[in-house]
Amino acid sequence: MSEPMDLEKLATESKVVAAGRPAKQPDGALNPPIALNSTFHEGGPVGYGRYGNETWSALEEAISVLEGGKTLLFSSGMAAISAVFSLLPEGAVIVAANNGYQGTTTLLKKLNESEKLKVRFINLANTDECIAAIPGAQMLYLESPLNPLLEVVDLPKIIAAGKAAGCGVAVDNTLATPLLQNPLALGADISIHSVTKYLSGHSDLILGSLTTNDQALYGRLEQSRRYGGAIAGPFEAWIALRGLRTFAIRMQRSQENAMELANRLSKDSRISKVRYPGLATDSYHGLAKSFMKGFGAMISFDVKASVEQVDLMCNSSKLITNATSLGGVESIWERRRRWATESETVPENLIRFSVGIENVDDLWADIQQALNTAKIK
Ligand SMILES: *Cc1c(COP(=O)(O)O)cnc(C)c1O
Repeated sequence: MSEPMDLEKLATESKVVAAGRPAKQPDGALNPPIALNSTFHEGGPVGYGRYGNETWSALEEAISVLEGGKTLLFSSGMAAISAVFSLLPEGAVIVAANNGYQGTTTLLKKLNESEKLKVRFINLANTDECIAAIPGAQMLYLESPLNPLLEVVDLPKIIAAGKAAGCGVAVDNTLATPLLQNPLALGADISIHSVTKYLSGHSDLILGSLTTNDQALYGRLEQSRRYGGAIAGPFEAWIALRGLRTFAIRMQRSQENAMELANRLSKDSRISKVRYPGLATDSYHGLAKSFMKGFGAMISFDVKASVEQVDLMCNSSKLITNATSLGGVESIWERRRRWATESETVPENLIRFSVGIENVDDLWADIQQALNTAKIK
């Protein structure tokens, strides 16, 4: 039996297949078990099912190899994000997006109102505004591309400015994924995922993760999980690892589809604006090209129609599902402002489109069919 290999040297497409496997031994399993245990015989390093689990460890190891640090799995992306904020002392100043993922923005608004944190809500896509907000802050909370406007944040520049000012820097890497960017390699302290999305990729579970390469920080986050108690179920961890095996190939295919559909949408007179950093005409194209390895598989576009017509269009698609969430093999879209918590900077007629792995011509035919059914001219 061969020696274990150095996973760090592999490309992402190989890492997702090879990482998080049990040690090789004769008749040893290729896959980890779904470890259903609340407790363990005394004398070991784990001790209790809230402190550790064999199935979590396998998925954590795989995400660690992808992100270049050490990973903690949580029950959801929001649980992981909450664990990050829980490290800050009462009244700490944090710089964050005024139009990022609505779950995070809503949580930060609540923490700000109750004075647990002092949040400086800014436009992260404006690099000067962001850097000017850093002095006196303890944490810089970043997200790029921003969800749902798909603005690209200048991560290399802003992370460097945050670190130079002695700020802790966390990056939500859910939309870009480790295939396109590695926040830790850019100097961030924590890279966050809603594992619910691209990493697991089948819209069948909710999980989150944090990865850091700072051992002391890892220890504090682990304590937050241990006593906050937002732990993953072993079955969810197992099925997420199974999904992760095809993450690279899914992402590549979705991204190709997204590029093609963004091009076709931008030539359609019924669409007033296509937001996709892969388009040469997109305001963020140059910045995205400068540090990302691809443009992702999310497109947002504004339809020249009333809110009612846009709702009807979303409801009329047959192959594309009208639902929230993103990052699955199936294409999903929705009118974002149907959510009361969505930022007012998001136009009422904007559709956020998570492009899946279906045949691109079938997707295009469905978009045309939906536009026609909603009588959009
Ligand atoms: C979905 C999402 C989250 C929240 O993750 P859950 O797994 O739903 O808790 C956080 N950030 C981004 C960018 C997301 O898209």
